[in-house]
Amino acid sequence: MRFWKPIFVHNSGLPKLLSWFSPICIGAITLGFVVVADHEMSEETLRHETIHFQQFLEMGFLFFIFVYMWDWVWGCIKYKDPSLSYYMIRAEREAHKNDKDPNYLKNRVRYEWLFKDDDPLVWLLKRKVENDSKRFRIRFGRRFYNPDH
Ligand SMILES: [Zn+2]
Repeated sequence: MRFWKPIFVHNSGLPKLLSWFSPICIGAITLGFVVVADHEMSEETLRHETIHFQQFLEMGFLFFIFVYMWDWVWGCIKYKDPSLSYYMIRAEREAHKNDKDPNYLKNRVRYEWLFKDDDPLVWLLKRKVENDSKRFRIRFGRRFYNPDH
């Protein structure tokens, strides 16, 4: 199961549609066994979404969504910032922290993301600032941008 990969669907209209209901602009999303993106996914995005796919295999779809939404709602209460709360979701912390490491999926420890309480604020804020500044660029139309979530 460790080496299972989801089915990747590139260049779909679905993420844009889902972005209307989400606090962040969705470029790619894991929905059970399928990962849907509105662009051609990079290695980093494929890895990021495969990490979510592995989390989903560990939890089952409903529990995964439940824990994901629980973390987000709790984060909104705690941080009063929907976008920061997204980066504090345990599932996203694991994915954002490790999506640049090509060996991560081989060495990943099952369920660790649920219980690990590291202090992610430094690299999370760095990632948030990078993504927010890219989003700022779309608002002013300088170039098209797909953040990878
Ligand atoms: Zn993600």
